[in-house]
Amino acid sequence: MTSVDVVVVGGGIGGLANALALSRKGLRVRVLERAREFGEVGAGLQIAPNCTRILDHWGLLDEIVSLGVLPEHIVMKDALDGSVLTRLDLHDVERRYGFPYVVIHRSDLHGTLLRACREAGVDLVTSVTVTGYEQAAGGAVAVHEGGRELGRVVIAADGLHSVARRLLSDDEPVSSAYVAYRGAVPFHEVRGLDVHPKDVVVYIGPRCHFVQYPLRQGEMFNQVAVFESPKALAGEAEWGTPDELDAAFEHTCAQVRAGLPLMWRDRWWRMFDRDPIMSWVSGRIALTGDAAHPPLQYLAQGAVMAIEDAWVLSEHAGASGDWDAVLAAYDAVRPEHCRRVVTTARAWGNLWHHDGDKRLWRNDVLRGRDVHDYTYVDWLFGPTALTPEQEPPMFPGGGAIVS
Ligand code: FAD
Repeated sequence: MTSVDVVVVGGGIGGLANALALSRKGLRVRVLERAREFGEVGAGLQIAPNCTRILDHWGLLDEIVSLGVLPEHIVMKDALDGSVLTRLDLHDVERRYGFPYVVIHRSDLHGTLLRACREAGVDLVTSVTVTGYEQAAGGAVAVHEGGRELGRVVIAADGLHSVARRLLSDDEPVSSAYVAYRGAVPFHEVRGLDVHPKDVVVYIGPRCHFVQYPLRQGEMFNQVAVFESPKALAGEAEWGTPDELDAAFEHTCAQVRAGLPLMWRDRWWRMFDRDPIMSWVSGRIALTGDAAHPPLQYLAQGAVMAIEDAWVLSEHAGASGDWDAVLAAYDAVRPEHCRRVVTTARAWGNLWHHDGDKRLWRNDVLRGRDVHDYTYVDWLFGPTALTPEQEPPMFPGGGAIVS
């Protein structure tokens, strides 16, 4: 059995963020990743100021900005008639929160974290699948086929299907019956189409939505098409297939239909989240990222929350060598914040996907919204709380942490 201060299971964005944050505090960290190589599948990610604030703290923001795009607006449109419903001015957002809203290729964010981990001396190990966990005197053990790794703490960043989560809950991923298609193409492939080259645009419609934004300094263009699968609702095993993609967007506006042929059609992502659980710590084993709080992606906060988890845990670890106290402080603040995000993302998705009268009513409300009103994002984009007392109310008049 080998031993370090911290064993991190999973080398996705969450695992690497934790490894980096803790090694910056002087701890010896080892990451165990089951894949043969570190990497990320997928296309773009939106990262809000509550994340770029932390990346700046770690000295990574300049690199992230140089690899990504600082979009000018988030524009919300109706997917059926293409009309603008509301917008967020992202220059204003940067002034208000002090840090930018960035869109970036997943592999660029992951690559930046990986390089920073290497430079910080993190021991990065691939081709290791962790199959179990044990508590040990003064620490915990991650068990895998080739052996056992002892740490004073084990951080499980093993994603939606986390093995470690079974220590805390017998819950299962919850299917939303929605599926996402992605596609990132060189920008010249959308030249001539009616797209916004400098904005994040979200078309919302009945049981579907469509997202577009530039990547890599505008050299690439990213699209995400999301819809409810009739086959999933009918209980069929093969759901989310390309024929369903075409049918779901048949009645959408010309701008959306023009983007669809550019989607990758050989793979798709079924959308799952999990019901929130309010403790992520078992002895010296702690969950982080999607293992702890996989959301539906409608608030674009999944990877962001994973990076916030890493920052909160490491800030407490830096102030104390007492891991039981560190994990208790982490567990006191993060589950409630992430519960709010996971449940709000579900509600936000329902609002996006309304049909009939509800769609018309929603559109009226969104068109009437003051575009400088930040009521609904202050609780997300502001500084990440280190303690329950610092957690902001969700909306004016709302409480702080209520369990
Ligand atoms: P994962 O990325 O799942 O990483 C888990 C890692 O652990 C993997 O590398 C895996 O190989 C490894 N692993 C698993 N099991 C084991 C094991 N037993 N042993 C060893 N290794 C193991 N978030 C945002 O913040 N902004 C967005 O704009 C955004 N858009 C999204 C769009 C879509 C369509 C989707 C599906 C998600 C989106 N998200 C977004 C969410 C975000 O992608 C995830 O929340 C985030 O990537 C989770 O990172 P993670 O490291 O916790 O988990």
